[in-house]
Amino acid sequence: MGACVQGDKTDVLSIDFLIAGGSLCGLSAAIALRRVGHNVTVIDRTSPYEPTNHDSGVRLPPNSTKMYYRWGLKERLHAVSVKSHGTLFASCSIVGNHAWEESILEEIGGDTLLVNYSRLRKVLAEHATEMGVKLVIDTIVSVHPDRVKPSLKLESGETLTGDVVLGVDGYIFEGNVCRKAVMEAFEQEDESTPLGTQLFKYAAVAPEVLNTEQAFEQGKVFTWYGSGHGAMGFPMIAVTGEDAFALYAFAPRTEGHLWPYVCEIDECLEALGDSDPRLRQLVKHSSYITCVPIAGRPSLEEWIHPDGRLLCIGEGAHPTPVGSLFSVAMCTCDAACLGRLFSHLTRHDQIDTLLSAEQEIREARVSAEPGMMEAVEQLFSYDAEDEADDWWVNWGLMQERATQWNLGGMGMAVTVEEGEGEEGEA
Ligand SMILES: Cc1cc2nc3c(=O)[nH]c(=O)nc-3n(C[C@H](O)[C@H](O)[C@H](O)COP(=O)(O)OP(=O)(O)OC[C@H]3O[C@@H](n4cnc5c(N)ncnc54)[C@H](O)[C@@H]3O)c2cc1C
Repeated sequence: MGACVQGDKTDVLSIDFLIAGGSLCGLSAAIALRRVGHNVTVIDRTSPYEPTNHDSGVRLPPNSTKMYYRWGLKERLHAVSVKSHGTLFASCSIVGNHAWEESILEEIGGDTLLVNYSRLRKVLAEHATEMGVKLVIDTIVSVHPDRVKPSLKLESGETLTGDVVLGVDGYIFEGNVCRKAVMEAFEQEDESTPLGTQLFKYAAVAPEVLNTEQAFEQGKVFTWYGSGHGAMGFPMIAVTGEDAFALYAFAPRTEGHLWPYVCEIDECLEALGDSDPRLRQLVKHSSYITCVPIAGRPSLEEWIHPDGRLLCIGEGAHPTPVGSLFSVAMCTCDAACLGRLFSHLTRHDQIDTLLSAEQEIREARVSAEPGMMEAVEQLFSYDAEDEADDWWVNWGLMQERATQWNLGGMGMAVTVEEGEGEEGEA
């Protein structure tokens, strides 16, 4: 039995998690699992301490920040983020202005933060490693699900073995193995449906183009829309520490690329056509631009490999359009829910049930499509850890009692913890 690091339980059975993919979801899952006492190794082909030239800014909504604050990351996150106070809608001039209600945010218990992807990833990695999470920088060549000891084979030739492999290697970039393995096992087609749009992601350090001071003070997310084109931008702090704007510009798609690539300034300018001159100007102030061909990709029909303990979560399980406000929130909540479920682990024979519970709880959530108003109420106030607790009280404890009754019937000594299971009685 291992002791808890920070969670509220002291009797958790510590098991070994291998997390395939150390982006935002993988690192969040690492923190959530480590804080309830599990041993965690995260494997990624890129170091979370090195900035990538594929990033821009991330909008972290309140249901994400609420979890991170609870896990002790508030100060660190605030040091690298701009707090958002709402959205400005513009075509040629401003046509709409939305502000976050402070009272709602207070009730929800989180903020909306605007933050550079690489800085956010680094903050999560620092926190995770300080808690004892092991980071391995290597490319995963293949995954081998197993009912007892699943493993990952790495490009370096090493094979890592654990009790559970978490597939968090996404879908946006080529080379992920976990989503692919689960889809192949269930003969599900990973069909890519081009949506006729491409996205240019860039970060511009350009105080004179937009009114930076005002933008930073108000923390507004700007949205532009026009014929065939659209854009969204917000203030953030660049990797260099300078004030910057994260930009997402959508334009009609040109043929040729299937995966994101770093593109030239001229290519981006051409695609933006005669869009708002400020957007065009900001392109010229960007040190790198990533073009992402937008395509619809199917969610996994099953998140768990039929041959054993490989569970996919995050973007690889339920892809969302790049740049969506909801994608990071969904990933944080997947991680939080899993951590809370595994805070109840006391025996190895519970592992499969808890993995299935993660899919049961989270799949229902990520496939729900609330309208705008419901989104604020249902999505941002959603607490993934509470939902995991509800599952445990309603279903987990019932299964526990049935298992213990069976063990008792076989003449084995059983103990039922006092006070457990008073709620959710069938
Ligand atoms: C480089 C990069 C930059 C991004 N920039 C932004 C941004 O600026 N704004 C934004 O909103 N969202 C950004 N995203 C997307 C954002 O991270 C996701 O939307 C999300 O919310 C987190 O999803 P995820 O962790 O499940 O998957 P992803 O973020 O897609 O991460 C998957 C991870 O798995 C790793 N991986 C994949 N295959 C292998 C393999 N074979 N071996 C080892 N490692 C592997 C990748 O290196 C990556 O770190 C970015 C993602 C990446 C990978």
